Amino acid sequence: MLSIIFPLIFFISGKISGYFFYFLIIILFFFFFIFRKILQNINNKFQSNFDKLEETSNLSKKNIKEKEKKLQDLPTVLSKLSSLFEISENLINLTEIDAIYDFIVDAVSKIFLEAENILLFILQSPEKLLLLRSVKRKPLVIKEKEADIIDKWVLKNNYSLLIQDIRQDFRFDFRKIIAYNKRGILSLMVSPISIDKKTIGVLRLESKIANAFMPQDCRLLRSICDLAAIIIERSQLFRQIQELAIKDSLTSLFLRDYFLKRLTEEINRTKISKQSLGVLMLDIDDFKKINDTYGHIVGDIVLKRLAGILTSVIGDAGNLISRFGGEEFIIYLVNYDKERLIKVAEHLRKAIETAIINFRRKTINFTVSIGVAMYPADASSVEDLVVVADKLLYQAKKEGKNKVCFIG
Ligand code: GH3
Ligand code: MG
Ligand code: MG
Repeated sequence: MLSIIFPLIFFISGKISGYFFYFLIIILFFFFFIFRKILQNINNKFQSNFDKLEETSNLSKKNIKEKEKKLQDLPTVLSKLSSLFEISENLINLTEIDAIYDFIVDAVSKIFLEAENILLFILQSPEKLLLLRSVKRKPLVIKEKEADIIDKWVLKNNYSLLIQDIRQDFRFDFRKIIAYNKRGILSLMVSPISIDKKTIGVLRLESKIANAFMPQDCRLLRSICDLAAIIIERSQLFRQIQELAIKDSLTSLFLRDYFLKRLTEEINRTKISKQSLGVLMLDIDDFKKINDTYGHIVGDIVLKRLAGILTSVIGDAGNLISRFGGEEFIIYLVNYDKERLIKVAEHLRKAIETAIINFRRKTINFTVSIGVAMYPADASSVEDLVVVADKLLYQAKKEGKNKVCFIG
């Protein structure tokens, strides 16, 4: 403004000529314009620097907030990690499979408080996962006994799975997820229980709240499951070894020593309860002929088939069936009177007589002879009871085989 006012005063007062006045105005306008542009540039530069600074400050604030959150979570993360050590210490001492399953779900429920339900599925046969344990925070009935598609995915791929919100997960159709349909579950964390490539089971944690689990939770769960897998496998091997010592590998029936031990215990119990106990001693008739005619493989098939018939007819809880040796079997039955015992023996004899084995377009039949002895009616000790049953079996053989013999 001053650049116009001063020349104007000089012009009016007649100190400068008209042309010079216009020239002066143009020059002053020019300088004014340049000055404004420079100011604008300086301003723009400062503004852009200011924007950059503001952006950096915002990023730093966000960073600080994240770090603060991490710092806040640190005690929880630390306590979760230290619990892994505690779990390993306790789990390692367990050998009984049911106690192991109980411990796993209990420990996991204590660590992951955000999980509403914890479900343990164990592989029963290839691809068949069965729900064996579950922990629920609220009273709730989980009806499904078999695994969901997410568990089967984990089983197949041997990967841990973290789903923050099932409705937004592109991998699965949430409408097909039973946990979502039945219980409104949104967050899921599923880990395989596996050793190398062999998967034994699957552990699933679920919550109705979206984003309930963090990626580090998933890693911790996997570590617990890896440890659990080793302990479960060890328990299963332990059980197999124990069974090998007491069970016959061909028929899966108990061996003689185990049978006699259990029979002694059962007789001691019978003495107190004043109940009676029966023993059936059973031998395949002319088994040598079966072996000689059809070969040992068929002989083995006959033995297995006989074991199957014995188990299906009298394999109830309380009774014990044993392969006493070769083609001889012995069974004790608790709480049977003589009349009922003879009826069972007859029923067995007939069931065996009518059983058919088909081998290479040949039909094979076989029969058995049975000796029936009762405690305390026919013998007063375990040894006597077995001897009496054996003598009666021998008598059945002498009387023409395919026969049941008893005293009385
Ligand atoms: P009996 O009617 O008097 O009992 O005659 P048997 O031929 O059944 O009895 P024997 O004692 O003469 O023959 C028993 C045969 O059982 C001889 C043996 O080779 C056979 N045997 C024993 N254990 C097994 C086995 O595990 N598998 C097969 N295939 N044969 C067996
Ligand atoms: Mg025989
Ligand atoms: Mg024999």
